[in-house]
Amino acid sequence: MKTEKTLVLLKPCTVKRNLIGEIISRFERKGLRVVGLKMMQLTDELLSEHYAHLADKPFFQRIKDAMMSTPVVAVALEGVDAIEVVRTLAGPTNGRKALPGTIRGDYSMSFQENIVHASDAPETAAVELKRFFRDEELFTLPRDLYAAFYANDEY
Ligand code: ADP
Repeated sequence: MKTEKTLVLLKPCTVKRNLIGEIISRFERKGLRVVGLKMMQLTDELLSEHYAHLADKPFFQRIKDAMMSTPVVAVALEGVDAIEVVRTLAGPTNGRKALPGTIRGDYSMSFQENIVHASDAPETAAVELKRFFRDEELFTLPRDLYAAFYANDEY
């Protein structure tokens, strides 16, 4: 398989605004396949690990608190170049700067309340999928399901 798996978190702002289905639909209609899905309450400990690269920022505790304000929905998505495709669909971090057509551009007015988290590279995707899913919670679907989405030498 040339496909990759990547992690998306639907943030509490998305859960509060009843946008869970709508945001998952945007990934599905693009052609990304859901291969793992669950709702979970995050903890300060897990978020300190997940956002370790932001530990010295003044807003570190604030983003962790925002991420704990309701459960989140963790989604594992699979596709060719899925990591890059999902980041492109999400758009840049600041929702006010994100272009219309991107998820953040269409649904967010905020730097912080920006609808989704999406893994940014193959190394982080591998670590983050393990952080949010046990091995048996991630699925491999039959390869022939991809035939409707790709030329036969693409996947
Ligand atoms: P991304 O989620 O686009 O990969 P980062 O990893 O840099 O971005 O930041 C993680 C999250 O922290 C962002 O999605 C956003 O919710 C929040 N964040 C980052 N930078 C800022 C900022 N300058 N002000 C407020 N929130 C921020």
